[in-house]
Formats: sequence, C-alpha cells, structure tokens
Amino acid sequence: MADPVPEESSLAEELTCSVCCDLLNDPVMLDCMHHFCRACILRFWDSSHRVSDCPYCRKVMPNRFVRTNHLLQKVVDLVRKNSRPEYHNNIQKNLKEMLEARENLMKTLEQQKEKAENKICNVEVHGTLLSSGII
Ligand SMILES: [Zn+2]
Ligand SMILES: [Zn+2]
Repeated sequence: MADPVPEESSLAEELTCSVCCDLLNDPVMLDCMHHFCRACILRFWDSSHRVSDCPYCRKVMPNRFVRTNHLLQKVVDLVRKNSRPEYHNNIQKNLKEMLEARENLMKTLEQQKEKAENKICNVEVHGTLLSSGII
C-alpha cells in the first residue's frame, strides 16, 4: 500500500528536527527512520549521560550510527528557499507592480474619458452656436 501524500504543512513538519524544532540542517537518519540535524543528534547524545537513543521514539542506537540523507537535504533546501522572506517579498512586489499598472491604466482611461467629454462639450457648444445663428 502506498503512503498517503503528505500535505504541504505536514511536509514542513516532516522536515523539522524535533531537537531544535527548526528545519533539518544536514539531516541524518537513525535506524528508527527518524531524522535529525547531524549537529543536534550528536549534541543530544553527547549531553545525555544515558544510552544513545532516538530523542523522538527513544529507540536505543547502540552504535550511534547515522545515515546522511542527501535527498532529504535537497528537499529541505527547497522548502527553505520557498519560505525565505525574499520569496514572499517577490510575490508582494509583483502584486504591487500589477496594482500600479492597473492604476495607470485607470488613469489613462480617465484621461481619455475626460478628453471625450470635452469633445462632446465642444461639439455641443459648437452646435448651439450654429443653431442660434451666432456663427
Ligand atoms: Zn536540529
Ligand atoms: Zn526514532
């Protein structure tokens, strides 16, 4: 049976180190399939005076063996890139530019409308002058 596709929010959760509560940095996988930052898990094991266990599920890792997960690092990088403030700033900038372009268009339309109204006015004045025999 295939695993259910994780939703975007839970994807970020999956990529969060439960030691530092931040996105994984240099992720390593333990035998229990849980992921941590390399620095976090090593610091956790160094600071704990007990056996080396998984901070998440408490499974004991007798040989302190960790697997580097390059693929996961790439995914984390991607998530981090997409959640960077520059990314959101970019979207905001694009929206602002779109709004400004729209405002300019409205201004142009307004000017065209005014011009057209002036023309109608002139024609009316001209017509009145004509019909009243002034010109
Ligand atoms: Zn960590
Ligand atoms: Zn675990």
